[in-house]
Formats: sequence, C-alpha cells, structure tokens
Amino acid sequence: MVDLHCHILPGLDDGPATMEESAAMAESAIADGITHIVATPHSSDEYFFDFAHVRQLRDELQAKAGNRLKIVTGCDFHLNPENLEALRKDPRQYCINQRGAPGLLRAGDRRRADRRLRRRRSTRCPEGGW
Ligand SMILES: [Zn+2]
Repeated sequence: MVDLHCHILPGLDDGPATMEESAAMAESAIADGITHIVATPHSSDEYFFDFAHVRQLRDELQAKAGNRLKIVTGCDFHLNPENLEALRKDPRQYCINQRGAPGLLRAGDRRRADRRLRRRRSTRCPEGGW
C-alpha cells in the first residue's frame, strides 16, 4: 500500500516536531500495511521548502525504518509567485522521488491556480519510476 501524501518529516511544517515522532508515524504506517510513503512537506507562504534539508531528514528516517518502508520525497506545493519561479528553475526537487510522477501535488485555490499556470510555461518533472 502506498501513501502519496504524508507530512512525516520532522520540524518542517505542521507535521511531527521531532524525529522520534516521525519514527513513531513510520512504525504506525508499517503496522497498517503501508510499504511506500511520499513525504510531502509544505512549500507555501508559511513553510519554506529546503530540498537539501528535506533529503537529509528523509535519509535519517529511512535509516530508522530500514527496508520495511520505502520513503521518498515529494512536496505539498502551494501556488504562489515564489514557488512558481522556483519550480521553473528546478522542478525535480518537488517531484516524487525527483523523477516520479510528471506533475506536482498542488494545493490551494484551484481556479486561481489554473489561471496562474496558464500564464506560465508548462513545467514537468522528468519521467521515471520510484
Ligand atoms: Zn499536505
């Protein structure tokens, strides 16, 4: 079973505050039969998305979970001008496992988002798998 949207990494947003809480969430997911999780910290006006830090936390949590749970990174991406500019420069950091789904998890006002996206050149993540 795959969880495509999980705020499991610590100290990044409104998810867990500590690595211990993250590890407990991972154990709970394993107990529920989840085999893969996409860690999706927010990138929004409220929460800054620091990809290097996200990867570091993913690696730490992956080490705790071992081979019982595959953790990859994605992003709960909110549409705002700063994010859209960052997306144009480096779309991979926001993609599932930096090569997964051709697209992003988007949140926010759908109509406003659609207008903003139409004004911008299409940006897609490279094709690939987990
Ligand atoms: Zn979310």
